[in-house]
Amino acid sequence: MTHFLIKIVGKEEFLKIPTPTIGDISLYFHLPFCKKKCHYCHFFVIKDDESKQEALFKALINEVSQKKNLLENKKIVSIYFGGGTPYLFKTKFFKEIIQKIYTLKAKIASEIEITIETNPEDINIEKVKALKDIGINRFSVGIQTLDNKLLQILGRSHDRLKILNSLDMIHHSGIKNVSIDLMYEIPYQSTDSWYKTLSYIPSMTMNHISLYNLTIEPNTAFFRQKDKLIKMKPSDKIAKKMLIKAIETFDANNFKRYEISAFAKNSSFSMHNIGYWLYRPFIGYGPSAFSYYNGIRSQNVCNFEKYIQLINQQKNAQDFIDDVSYSKKVKEALAVSLRLIEGIDINDFEKKWGKIPSDLEVVLNNLCQSNHLIRFKNRIKLSSLGLLFYDSIATEII
Ligand code: SF4
Repeated sequence: MTHFLIKIVGKEEFLKIPTPTIGDISLYFHLPFCKKKCHYCHFFVIKDDESKQEALFKALINEVSQKKNLLENKKIVSIYFGGGTPYLFKTKFFKEIIQKIYTLKAKIASEIEITIETNPEDINIEKVKALKDIGINRFSVGIQTLDNKLLQILGRSHDRLKILNSLDMIHHSGIKNVSIDLMYEIPYQSTDSWYKTLSYIPSMTMNHISLYNLTIEPNTAFFRQKDKLIKMKPSDKIAKKMLIKAIETFDANNFKRYEISAFAKNSSFSMHNIGYWLYRPFIGYGPSAFSYYNGIRSQNVCNFEKYIQLINQQKNAQDFIDDVSYSKKVKEALAVSLRLIEGIDINDFEKKWGKIPSDLEVVLNNLCQSNHLIRFKNRIKLSSLGLLFYDSIATEII
C-alpha cells in the first residue's frame, strides 16, 4: 500500500488515500443476529439465538474451507464482521474464525484491519478487551443520534448516556480505531436536535465518522407508516443545511471528508471500505453476504436456514451472480470511485479498466461543463456542487 500524504497539484489539494495493490483482498462476514429490529432497518437480520449462533459458526468455518482456494497467493488486508450486531456473537467463535483464516495459504498484511460492528447498549469492557486480545482492532459503533427521543423513534435500544459510556469503555480498553455512524433526515428531527448531537463531537473519542441520511426502505416498520413519516422528515432545504453544518463541525474537529459519507481524523481511513470504492476483491461469508472476485459480484442466499443447509451439504450458497456487460462495469467503477473526495487518477483507472469509452467521455465532459466535476491534469473529481448531487451524477454516468 502507498503511504498517506497530501499532494499539491497546482492549486488543487487532495488527500491521497492508499490504493489497493494487486493481490490484496478483504473478507466480509455477515453475522445477522440482533436483539430486535430497528424501525428503519432493511438489512438481513434475525433474532439472536444461542443455537443459531452455534449453527452459523460451524457453517462459517465450513465456508472458509470451501473458499480457501480463492485466497491462495493473496494478501488479506482487512476483515470486517458486519451484520446484524456481530458483537453479540460469542468471542470464542470470532477467535476460531480468525485462527482458521490464519491457517490458510494467504499472506496476512502486517497492519491488517479487523473491524467489528457494535451497538452502544451491548458494550462491556471485558468483552472489548477479549476481542482486542484475539486481534480485532477497529470498532464501528451504531450511534445514529444523541437525541433520546429520536433514538426511541428509530427503535434503537440505547440512549445518550449509553453512547458516551460505550465510547469511553472502548477507548479505555486501548482500541485506537473507532468509527461511529450518525444519521440525519430522521422523521421529527429538528435542526436544533441535530446541532445538539453535533455539539458532542469534540468530547467523543472516535477517529472516524460515517454520516448517512435516513431513507425509508421497503420491508421496514417505517415503510408501513411511510405516508405519515415522510411528512415528518426535514425538508430538502433543511437536510442540506444539516449536512453542511455536519461537514463544518467535523472539519473544525479535524475530521477530514475523504469520501461522500466518511470522515477521518489523522488519516484513519477505513481500509475495508476503501476496498469497496476502489474495487479491491473481497470474499463474503454468511447469509446475504456479497463477494466481488475476478470482476464478478455475487451474493449468498438471504435465508438463514437455507444458507446453513447449503453449506453443510458442501454446496455453493450463492444465489445471485451479477453478469452485467463490461462497459457497464467500467461505468459503475468510475461512478463508485468518484465517491472519493480525491477523485480518480485517469491513468490508474485506465490501466485497470481499459480506455474510457467515448460515450462516457462525453458524459464526463458535460459534467465538467456544468461544474459538477473538476478535471485537473490527469485527475477528475467531484466539485463542491457535485458533492451535493452525487446520486444524480452517478445515475448519469451509469
Ligand atoms: S442494530 Fe443495526 S442491523 Fe440490527 S436491526 Fe438495528 S439497524 Fe438493523
